[in-house]
Amino acid sequence: MKKILVIGAGGQVGSVLTGELQTRYGFENVIASDVRPLSGFGGNFIGLDATDFEGLKRVVTDHGINEIYHLAAILSASGEKFPLDTWDINMKTFFNVLEVSRLHGVSKVFYPSSIAVFGQNAPKVDTPQSAPLCPTTVYGISKVAGENWASYYHQKYGLDIRSLRYPGIIGYQSPPGGGTTDYAVDIFHKAVQNKPYECFLEPSTMLPMIYMDDAIRATIELMEAPAASITVRTSYNLAGMSFSPAQLAASIKGHCPGFEISYTPDFRQEIADSWPMSIDDSVARKGWGWQPAYNLDAMTDIMASQLKLKYENHYSVV
Ligand code: NAD
Repeated sequence: MKKILVIGAGGQVGSVLTGELQTRYGFENVIASDVRPLSGFGGNFIGLDATDFEGLKRVVTDHGINEIYHLAAILSASGEKFPLDTWDINMKTFFNVLEVSRLHGVSKVFYPSSIAVFGQNAPKVDTPQSAPLCPTTVYGISKVAGENWASYYHQKYGLDIRSLRYPGIIGYQSPPGGGTTDYAVDIFHKAVQNKPYECFLEPSTMLPMIYMDDAIRATIELMEAPAASITVRTSYNLAGMSFSPAQLAASIKGHCPGFEISYTPDFRQEIADSWPMSIDDSVARKGWGWQPAYNLDAMTDIMASQLKLKYENHYSVV
């Protein structure tokens, strides 16, 4: 039977993924953990700093954990403010997951990578699976290193570790966590409150994105795929859609006709300019049947309607 630990369960992805895992595998079989104290998860939560090897080991052995989703990380934009701390946290937490897994009976691990692994020397359009990885951010450097360590633990110790290079993830359920694509969530919060949005990227900055439900489904489909179909042991390219801030604003105006956007690019523009505009995920499609379900307008419909409902019920976040 699966006994799952989610590390970083309080984040943008973790708060949605943990609920889906609990629905699918049984509430009692999925433990949420985070360095921040959190309520929710029906009380099935443990405070855990994943930089603490002994603490992680205790949780894994006490609860008979055999599968880990390791989501904790400092993201691209936050990471540039504290590069050395970001490297330490991103690598230390992952090494602890790898070593505790190897030594204490965890047989399967999910490790999210990112489109931030690509840099200026990768093709910008339809960036292939095998494009060179020369990232410009410390976050991207940590993800490239993590991908290679994942592959090493698979080859050397047989650990069944699987990974996706997530694009920017957009969902109404949770606030974003300090990435360069955060604008694509923040913009909806302003629009549905009839407030203008000041975008930190240029209007034409095209980036790969994915709707939250697609990202969660891709994660679970990858983890459920037969081992024989997993041919990439670093990390799979994953695509949902690509759009620019101007295109997103136009789509939002269909729901919020008076919506106004202005553009004041900051340091995140440079990061975005080093990333792909679109991703070729044909290896994932062929290997384990990946297929996204949401395009820009389908995502906008759900984001706008769900957030309108939330704010009508006095939600406040951005
Ligand atoms: P997030 O910043 O929203 O959440 C990360 C969570 O990890 C937070 O709740 C934080 O408290 C927790 N955390 C931080 N340090 C920790 C520690 N030492 N021990 C335990 N918990 C700790 O991030 P997210 O957006 O949910 O991203 C999840 C994963 O997906 C990350 O690895 C990220 O790199 C990757 N990813 C996300 C996106 C995206 O658009 N959200 C895109 C590409 C990749």
